[in-house]
Amino acid sequence: MPSREGARRRSERHSLRDVSKTSVTVRVPAKVNLQLSVGPVRSDGYHELATVFQAVGLYDEVIARTPSEPGIRLTISGEGEGTLPLGEGNLAYRAARLLAEHAGVEAAVDLHIHKAIPIAGGMAGGSADAAGTLLACDALWRQGTPREELMALAAELGSDVPFALHGGTAIGTGRGESLTSVLSRGEFHWVFALADGGLSTPAVYGECDRLRDGRSVPDPYVSDMLMQAVRAGDAVLLGKALHNDLQPAALALRPALRQTLEVGEDYGALGSLVSGSGPTCAFVARDEEHSLDLAVSLTASGVCRTVRRAVGPVPGARVIG
Ligand code: ATP
Repeated sequence: MPSREGARRRSERHSLRDVSKTSVTVRVPAKVNLQLSVGPVRSDGYHELATVFQAVGLYDEVIARTPSEPGIRLTISGEGEGTLPLGEGNLAYRAARLLAEHAGVEAAVDLHIHKAIPIAGGMAGGSADAAGTLLACDALWRQGTPREELMALAAELGSDVPFALHGGTAIGTGRGESLTSVLSRGEFHWVFALADGGLSTPAVYGECDRLRDGRSVPDPYVSDMLMQAVRAGDAVLLGKALHNDLQPAALALRPALRQTLEVGEDYGALGSLVSGSGPTCAFVARDEEHSLDLAVSLTASGVCRTVRRAVGPVPGARVIG
């Protein structure tokens, strides 16, 4: 927690700005795990991870407005409209409250989230909204919270939240919250097959443990081939190096995903995997044109609810208006 003196300095600094913000819009990307290596269970119940995140151009938008009365009010449109909690149960709500406590300001904001990232889809949509809310409220409340403090608040909210602020490509260790940037060349063309309904992340980890059946698990690692592919911008090599230790568990819980992956491969995807804890399936295409063909074929085959195309890597959460 920062000192009262720190909060006072920040508030003075910002009172010097003559902008009076009444609305801030932040755009925040989804992620795909190029590799998700799941190690042993730690004493705190979390699994030790080594993962390579990539932020992809499929975005939620978080709009923070000055409210007419104190309190946090949240509305949501797009993916999951009408199904998500709008109070404490929503990670974005918790992010606004945590930032207000940290900054020592009244939590007063009208939040609207327009979601394009699938719910419980293994693309960290809730984490993206939390990261977007931290950034939007920080700007709305004119706090200018230093980056390291925002990253620490993000890690308190959830393992994937820091990466949604960070963006690009990064190695995540620990629970995934400890990040190291990876230099990446060029861009990759992704196609995502979105499924009907989500998969619960804890249920997928539980199934992963069940399938491992008490066998000893090696420490998680990041593959050299994957790092080489990312650094070289080599889509063919990336396709070969994609790997997700949670995939067998996601497929056990949702056997129909096998067919989705097979259809993508049949239509020439350079590589495919279940994204994070699923059920979204991710495919690497050769180039933009191939990603269009792949998207059309997946849609026509009827093996998924809908298809999205996106490039990666893209920057993390950004104020856009
Ligand atoms: P991850 O890839 O980090 O495991 P996910 O993409 O599979 O996450 P999310 O969409 O982030 O899953 O959300 C999982 C659950 O979290 C949802 O079922 C929902 O009840 C809850 N949740 C809370 N806040 C949000 C939010 N803003 N957006 C989506 N889900 C949220």
